[in-house]
Amino acid sequence: MRALRAWGLKNDWLTTSKSTPTCASRLADGSLFRLSSGTVWAALGGGDNCEVCGDLILETQPQYEIREGKHAYAHVVCFSIWLVEAKILDASAE
Ligand SMILES: [Zn+2]
Repeated sequence: MRALRAWGLKNDWLTTSKSTPTCASRLADGSLFRLSSGTVWAALGGGDNCEVCGDLILETQPQYEIREGKHAYAHVVCFSIWLVEAKILDASAE
């Protein structure tokens, strides 16, 4: 898990080229909600913005739809990092 955390914190590609907070820091400050199950629905983008990076999910891109109390959409890659970072945060709280 240590390697994953270092990777997630050092690579800001998730936030694209914008100077925005990382997924981990957004989870820590509560601006990105915590995932509990990781259960999602997959489809092609429908014109919604990614909960993680904020970018539009194009109709040609696969997206995950999250329904865990809150309803959100995310790019597949963004969701993967979101889930890993949420699990790291949960593990560090134990
Ligand atoms: Zn995204």
